[in-house]
Amino acid sequence: MELSRLAQNLGGSIIREMFNEALKLEDTISFTVGEPDFITPMPIIEEACRCWKKGMTHYTPNSGIPELRQAIAEYHADDLKPDPDNQIMVSCGATEAIQTALFTLVNPGEEVIVITPAWPNYFGQIGMCGGVMKTVSAREENNFIPDPDDIKAAVTDKTKAIILNSPSNPTGAVIDRDTLRAIADVLRNRDIYVIADEIYSRLVYSSEPYTSITSFEGMMEKTVYISGFSKMFAMTGWRLGYAVAEPEIIRNMTKLHENGASCLPAPSQLAAAYGLYHCQPEIEKMRASYLRRRNLICSLIEETPGLSVRRPQGAFYAFVNARELCNKTGLDSRGLCMDLLKKTGVVTVPGSGFGECGEGFIRLTYATSDENIVKGFGRIKSYVGGIK
Ligand code: PMP
Repeated sequence: MELSRLAQNLGGSIIREMFNEALKLEDTISFTVGEPDFITPMPIIEEACRCWKKGMTHYTPNSGIPELRQAIAEYHADDLKPDPDNQIMVSCGATEAIQTALFTLVNPGEEVIVITPAWPNYFGQIGMCGGVMKTVSAREENNFIPDPDDIKAAVTDKTKAIILNSPSNPTGAVIDRDTLRAIADVLRNRDIYVIADEIYSRLVYSSEPYTSITSFEGMMEKTVYISGFSKMFAMTGWRLGYAVAEPEIIRNMTKLHENGASCLPAPSQLAAAYGLYHCQPEIEKMRASYLRRRNLICSLIEETPGLSVRRPQGAFYAFVNARELCNKTGLDSRGLCMDLLKKTGVVTVPGSGFGECGEGFIRLTYATSDENIVKGFGRIKSYVGGIK
C-alpha cells in the first residue's frame, strides 16, 4: 500500500528543519522561527479566560462569530469596508485563509505567480491545490521590490492568481505605492486574482504611509485580503487569522473551511475582538521594539565582514547577503547555516529555502531580545573571523 502522491511529494519548510536541527544541540541562540518573543497582551488573555470560565466551549459559526466579524469590519472601516455578514471569514491562522483562498480560486494545472524570495508555505500550499507555481524574483539591487514588468512577463493564459506579500517574509521589503500602482495596472484588466498577504502591515518602519494593493481602483473586487492576529498581537499560538473578499469568494472559502478547520473557539475570537477595540497602543509598543531591534541587528550585520543587508522596512526579518562567506567556504547557504549552527549554536535559515534566488543569503529573525541579538552576533563574528 502506498501513501498519496500529494503527501509524499509535499516538502516541509526549511525553517522547521533548522528549528528541529537546533533542538539536538544545547546552548543555541535562535534567529529562526518568525514569531514575536512577546506574549499576547494581558487584557486579551484575560478576556479569553473570562470567556472560557463562562462556559464558551462549544462549536461556533463557520465563518467566525458575529462579534469578531463586526470588530474586523470596524477595524477596516477606512480601507476595505467589508460587510461583516458576508465578506469576512475567520480562519485557523492566516495560513488556513491562504490555503482556502488557493483552493477556492485555482484549479489543478492553473498557474499562480509568487514573488520570491517568499514564505515557503506558499510553495506547499500551491502544490496542495494542484496549482503550478511561477516565480518572479525580487532583486536585491531593487531592495527586493518586485518589478511590475517581470510580473507582466510571467503572466500566461494559464495564470489564475498572484500572491503579493507586503511587508515581506523573508526580505522585509514593503512594496511602495508607485510599484503597487504599476502592478495593479498589470492585473486590472486580466482575469487574475490577487491573494494579498498583508499579515505584517502593522509592522512597518518607513515614514511613508503603508499602501495596500486593495486601495487601487478595481483591485478589491479581485483580491482576497489576508491578515490575522499572530503578528499584530503576538498571538501565533492562538491560530487566528482572517480573509476579506467579495461575498461569492468568502461563501466558497467558508465551504472549504467548514470541511477542514470547521470553526474556531469562541473565547479566542472574542479575545481578538477585544484586542482590536482596546489594545491598539500595544501594537505600537511592539512595533517600536522591533524597530529598535532592526536597527541593532542591521548595524551588527553591517560591521561583520562578509555580510551585508538591505535595511528591512517592515515585518521582523533581515535577509542577509552572505555570498562572500559562501564563496570563501565553498558552502552553499544551507551548508553555511548548518556549519554556523554546529560550530556556534546560532540558528539561522538558509535563503535558498525561500526560492532559488535566495541562494547566497541567510534569514535572521529579529523578533528576539536585544541580549540574544548581541550574544548571537558575538558568536557569528568569531565564526566569520575563523574563515580564511
Ligand atoms: N504569511 C506570512 C508571510 C507569514 O510569515 C506567516 C507566518 N510566519 C503567515 C502568513 C501565517 O501566519 P498565521 O500564524 O496567522 O498562520
